[in-house]
Amino acid sequence: MKFAVTSRGDTTSNGLKQNIKSYLTEFGLTLDEQEPDIVITVGGDGTLLQAFHDYNYRLEDTCFVGIHTGHLGFYADWMPEEVEKLVIHIAKTPFKVVEYPLLEVIVRYHDRVRGERYLALNECTVKSSEGTIVMDIEIKGEYFETFRGDGLCLSTPSGSTAYNKALGGAILHPSLDSIQLAEMASINNRVYRTVGSPLVLPQHHTCMLRPQSDTDFIITIDHLTMMHNNVKSIQCRVADEKVRFARFRPFPFWKRVRESFVE
Ligand code: NAD
Repeated sequence: MKFAVTSRGDTTSNGLKQNIKSYLTEFGLTLDEQEPDIVITVGGDGTLLQAFHDYNYRLEDTCFVGIHTGHLGFYADWMPEEVEKLVIHIAKTPFKVVEYPLLEVIVRYHDRVRGERYLALNECTVKSSEGTIVMDIEIKGEYFETFRGDGLCLSTPSGSTAYNKALGGAILHPSLDSIQLAEMASINNRVYRTVGSPLVLPQHHTCMLRPQSDTDFIITIDHLTMMHNNVKSIQCRVADEKVRFARFRPFPFWKRVRESFVE
């Protein structure tokens, strides 16, 4: 089996990364940073998000496992003290793989023929440096509402515990092939009106955002922020691809939610 290890870059994470590399090599595994079967991330959820984007060209063949050197992460759920146990699991036992849905985002432009396609593990947000954004929202090809407010967030089920949660969105179990649209401070009065509740869309229900007048937007894909100019539309749906996580022990989603937010 081929493996890669990534680190957040701090001293503790770098040290742990080196140990994992040595242990796994001693166990006969091959270090392959281009085509790993398993990617072990050391740091936090941000480190795993970065690794997901670094290896998103081979999602069908790579699975991820995360170790947290800070607080318990949602993706990074192994503790540094458990590293030796984890390494033995990786080297000696066939592991289970769980697949979670991803969000596909296609940004199209007025001045370009080709759009840009992105995959998000957590979410895509759309905001403006000017303040309020005004977007017509279409669902499954039909006009739904016109949104005026700070921005919009489209999240995956596993990303529903991240930014989406801070916006009052629901927490969705990752077995649901769906995406969630949550508003950021919509303007609601006699003139402007939106539904106000987060919407959960199933697979194949494409959500299209069409700017009314301004065409320059700040679009985030997970931890990555980009300025997009001349935007004609932003199309979001459940992606055909999935992310794969290596599971060596049961750590049910709702247990992770309780340990992260309730306990
Ligand atoms: P960061 O360093 O600002 O950390 C954001 C926090 O979000 C960390 O505590 C991380 O553990 C947590 N997190 C990330 N993914 C999560 C998930 N799926 N479920 C629960 N918690 C999660 O930034 P980063 O580490 O680069 O992560 C980028 C993420 O930060 C974005 O994808 C977005 O979800 C999140 N974010 C949240 C808010 C907010 O809650 N108001 C605002 C901006 C960004």
